[in-house]
Amino acid sequence: MKSRAETLQQIEGGKFDVCVIGGGATGAGCALDAQLRGLHTVLVEAGDYASATSSSSTKLVHGGVRYLQQAVADLDVGQYRVVQRALHERRLMLDNAPYLAHPLELLVPCYSRKEALYYSVGMKMYDWIAGKGNLFPSKHRSVADSVKRMPMLKPDRLVGTVAYGDGQFDDARYGMALIQSFSDAGGEAVNYARVVQLGKDARGRLNQAEIEDVITHRRFNLQARAFINATGPFSDCIRGMAKPGITPRLRLSKGVHILLPLDKEDTKDAILIPETDDGRVIFAIPWLGRFLVGTTDDEAEHDDEMIVTKKEAEYLLRHLNRYIVSPLRVDQIVSAFAGVRPLVKSKSALDTKKLIRDHEVEMEQQSGLISVLGGKCTTHRAMAEDGVDMTLGYLGKPLIPCCTGHHKLHGAEGYGPEFWRLLVSEFSVTPSTAQHLAEKFGTASLRVLEIAKQDSRYASPIVQGLPYIQAEVVYSVRQEMAMTIEDVLARRIGLQLFSWAASIKAAPVVGSLMSQQLGWSAEETNQEVEQYVQKISRLMTAIGQVPETA
Ligand SMILES: Cc1cc2nc3c(=O)[nH]c(=O)nc-3n(C[C@H](O)[C@H](O)[C@H](O)COP(=O)(O)OP(=O)(O)OC[C@H]3O[C@@H](n4cnc5c(N)ncnc54)[C@H](O)[C@@H]3O)c2cc1C
Repeated sequence: MKSRAETLQQIEGGKFDVCVIGGGATGAGCALDAQLRGLHTVLVEAGDYASATSSSSTKLVHGGVRYLQQAVADLDVGQYRVVQRALHERRLMLDNAPYLAHPLELLVPCYSRKEALYYSVGMKMYDWIAGKGNLFPSKHRSVADSVKRMPMLKPDRLVGTVAYGDGQFDDARYGMALIQSFSDAGGEAVNYARVVQLGKDARGRLNQAEIEDVITHRRFNLQARAFINATGPFSDCIRGMAKPGITPRLRLSKGVHILLPLDKEDTKDAILIPETDDGRVIFAIPWLGRFLVGTTDDEAEHDDEMIVTKKEAEYLLRHLNRYIVSPLRVDQIVSAFAGVRPLVKSKSALDTKKLIRDHEVEMEQQSGLISVLGGKCTTHRAMAEDGVDMTLGYLGKPLIPCCTGHHKLHGAEGYGPEFWRLLVSEFSVTPSTAQHLAEKFGTASLRVLEIAKQDSRYASPIVQGLPYIQAEVVYSVRQEMAMTIEDVLARRIGLQLFSWAASIKAAPVVGSLMSQQLGWSAEETNQEVEQYVQKISRLMTAIGQVPETA
């Protein structure tokens, strides 16, 4: 991918067919689709790619068993179709980036024969709706079998589990792979570039955006014939720019996750806790060496700070601890994150838990703004397809068929489950570093390791004892537009999710590597490190932990 400076030069004053606003899963999906259909496309993202909702998900590629349950309970055909479409998309997501998305077995603990029958029938229905895209058939597992697969599961009163398949993925890296693929297809993407104003032609049609470079605060314009609003929770703000006073369409709902240590022996599978005290489901999932537990669902406001509170963490642990042998405590939490769901409003549902996770593509008739609203990560490709179909119609172009359904993403070409072994043999890295690189970068990890080969200092670990190496930081800056320490640690390499404490240790190393690449002064570097450490310390304090540096 081109550098940010080069991209800014290209887009400043540029003329495009389409400008996509927002670089989360939806925006990146729309940009890739539009560019592949021959539309000259630019994407502008106010923060880092996938830095908002698209890196705060439960990391499931799923149809949603809870939504199926709701569809059956309410005899709701709309809800059923949402599940069906998401299950179709699940297969495509897994196929298009197998290094980032793969099947996962989930167990639903059952405490009576009636419950076991209920979930068995429900999951068979889930398999049936998935049709050819089913990952593996659901089945009943005996208590012994369940506990063998998940030794941490409490056997008391258990009559067995119902095991079913869904997908799991690395959401932040998936977003980056979409952006890289868009760039490979000839599109222009820039992060830290916020749309501050939209301009119109004499007929009142949008034709221009004023962009603020969030890093330098410089402003510039670009022109486009169509604008796609893919700003997730911020969509109503962009709709308001196109038509002041427009009725808001979204309701926001906050969801939090915590990460806990996970021994390889603890579990192979995830647990679905089917009923919380407030009628939700909670997932507890092995994810990149940790146990990821979430989520909550509480009405939120735009300006709410995305932190996980001690109360929210205790809520998740209280429910999880009912199912596991050794109860987990708040002080064992190694990391956490929070995000807001952009849910499309419904007149009938008063509660955010009941809102359908469907998407909607809307065109504002006067200005022509196309907004892709709602949905979930799993359906980002279908949302983009609908959004770009509408864009082609708006531009008066023939409906060129969408081709993202079978478009391998950046890093997926030539990838297979044993790919990491090649990294060990060709570059003599440890198996754990090779597996980590393959899971994060796919075949692009060859380019990461080329950096380490050219300068052996970059082969060193970022933090002793962990598989992350310094070349990843250099690659993230050179090839993936990482601009802050958080961009690297939270989204490019994921160390922040693995451990807050380790990411505080890593900050000075990452800061120093970034300063060499981006030409920061010593003062700028110290300030960046300090700000990052303060942010992580604040997150730890909010959850009731004492940061080592405080
Ligand atoms: C707790 C939780 C759990 C979830 N779990 C799952 C799951 O397991 N599986 C699943 O499939 N989905 C899940 N989802 C849903 C999924 O994460 C979201 O639907 C999806 O990430 C939304 O992507 P988006 O691109 O629409 O929005 P976002 O990722 O929020 O992207 C919008 C982007 O627009 C940018 N932006 C805003 N204003 C401007 C501007 N003026 N100029 C330029 N850019 C701007 C923002 O910076 C942001 O990056 C979950 C969501 C939450 C909150």
